[in-house]
Amino acid sequence: MLYIGSHVSFNKDTQLIGVVETALSNNANTFMFYTGSNQSTLRFPIDKNLTDKAHQIMCENNIEREKCIIHAPFIINLANNSDERKYQFYIDFLKQEIDRCIALGINNLVLHPGSHVSVPKDEALLSVSKGLNEALKEGQNINILIEYMSGKGTEVGSTIDELKTILENVIYKDKVFICLDTCHINDAGYNLNNFDDFLDEFDQKIGIDKIKCIHINDSKNSIGAHKDRHENIGYGTIGFETLINIIYNPRLDNIPKILETPFIEDKSPYKTEIEIIKQKKFIEFK
Ligand code: FE
Ligand code: FE
Ligand code: ZN
Repeated sequence: MLYIGSHVSFNKDTQLIGVVETALSNNANTFMFYTGSNQSTLRFPIDKNLTDKAHQIMCENNIEREKCIIHAPFIINLANNSDERKYQFYIDFLKQEIDRCIALGINNLVLHPGSHVSVPKDEALLSVSKGLNEALKEGQNINILIEYMSGKGTEVGSTIDELKTILENVIYKDKVFICLDTCHINDAGYNLNNFDDFLDEFDQKIGIDKIKCIHINDSKNSIGAHKDRHENIGYGTIGFETLINIIYNPRLDNIPKILETPFIEDKSPYKTEIEIIKQKKFIEFK
C-alpha cells in the first residue's frame, strides 16, 4: 500500500489535530512534523485532550499512527562529544523529545546523526550510538529513525557503511532504524537511477526491513554535491520518473513516503505533489 504525506506544521493551539487536518486536506495518509521549532529547544506542553481527539480523527480517516512520523530538532548533535556538557544536553533533549512522541502516540522519531566537527569520524559514529544508548530505555515504545544525510559540511551518516556502524553499536537494536532521503542520497553520491543497486547494498549491509521512512525530495544539486538543497518533485536533478520508480518500488511498499519539498511563493506544494504522485503523471505546477 502507498503511504504518502508531507511535512506539516504543529502549533500550540491545535497541536496534533492541526497536523491531521492539514494532512487530510492534502489527501495524505501519513505526515511528519516537528513538535516545536527545529532550530530551538523551546517546547510547549502536549495537551492530552487535543491528542485524544486527533487520534479519533485519524481513526475515522484511516490514518495509521504507526505510519506517522515526528522529526527531532536539528540542534541535537550526538556526533560531537567534544564538549561533555553540550553532549549531555543533546541526550537530555532527545529524551524529552522521545517523551513527547510517546505522549502524542506517534512513535517514529527521525533524528539526524549530526556533524562531527572536530571529532574524528570513527569516534563521532560511536558517539551517536552511545548517545542513543543513554537516551533510550528498555521497554519504551519508540523507534528512532537515523536519517541518511547528504554529507554537507562534517555531517556523518552519509554512507550505508557509516549508518551500519551506528546501528551496530546501539544496544536497543529493536528501537533504532533508518530514514532514507532521496535528495540526501543523491547529494551524498549515489545515482538514484540505479536505486535497486543501492537497495541491494543496503539490504546486504543493514537490511531493507530497517527502513521505516523515506523522505521524497528532488535535489537542486548534482550527484555527490554534498549540498542538501531540496527541490520540488520533477524540478530537480533527480527527476519525476526516478522518484516515481522509488515511490512505487515494490521492495519499499508500505514504507511511509514523506515530502519535504520547498514552498512555492509561500504556498504549500504538497496537495499537488501528492496528486501527481498518485496519478504517476507529471504536470507543471510552478
Ligand atoms: Fe531531516
Ligand atoms: Fe529529510
Ligand atoms: Zn535535507
